[in-house]
Amino acid sequence: MRKHQCRQDENPGAPLRPTLQGLAVFFIAIATVATAACTATRPDERLHSTLWVQASAEYAVITRQVFKMAKDEIDEDLASTNRVRPLAIIVDVDQTILDNSGQTARSIIAGSGFRSADWTEWVNEASAPGVPGALEYLQYVAAQGVAVFYVTNRSAEKEDATRRNLEQLGFPLNPETDMILTRLEQPGWTRDKASRRQWLASRFEVLQILGDELSDFLSLPPGTDAETRLHMAQSHHEKWGRQWFMLPNPIYGSWERALTPDGSSIYDAPMEQKIRSLKTQ
Ligand SMILES: [Mg+2]
Repeated sequence: MRKHQCRQDENPGAPLRPTLQGLAVFFIAIATVATAACTATRPDERLHSTLWVQASAEYAVITRQVFKMAKDEIDEDLASTNRVRPLAIIVDVDQTILDNSGQTARSIIAGSGFRSADWTEWVNEASAPGVPGALEYLQYVAAQGVAVFYVTNRSAEKEDATRRNLEQLGFPLNPETDMILTRLEQPGWTRDKASRRQWLASRFEVLQILGDELSDFLSLPPGTDAETRLHMAQSHHEKWGRQWFMLPNPIYGSWERALTPDGSSIYDAPMEQKIRSLKTQ
């Protein structure tokens, strides 16, 4: 286990003519402040994954790879598909085409954890950047005459702000048709996206789905454990990289609920419980 370490070696700037007593008081004060800073809060466990998303070249290379694969498959589809029905693709929004790691960074810095009011504020700012490669891919798809539907679990009251964010970045939208299908925007459009996928599939030839988590593609019954999730994903192996494309999201996801017997998120679980979930082989 990696231990959180605090730097205690910075020179705070010594007084010009220190007395022995003055020096002692000074160093005790410094040591007290440093110790308090070290023990006050557990480090936010999203820190490392958030840095990876924001700072690594590897993250941006992977996301661009995924969108390139999806583009190549669209080209193949367009060459071979018999266009009886209008064509469409489905994309998730958060960590699929919009990068909200800045909001996570704010909550890490504030030491506040996830708070829905902070999330609402972030969404209303409508300034999340695009995931690398997403804009070029979706603009290309739209230019081929394929409708792009954004199927998101952002709630219906966040739709206008979401549209503003997408518009400002230049993501394809249609002024005459609602392309953003939010949670509970219509009766039955629950957190499980299956009803929205079916709604679209009954009207369009859906060529592709892109998401950052398994439930963007499949209906996961509550309490689905990690092994079952793997099995469910693998049972559709022919679709991955052909019709279904997964973006990396190391910061959060429903996988966190698959590691506890009661389906609660392991994020807030005691460290010992997380360590017990590790595989050593
Ligand atoms: Mg998402």
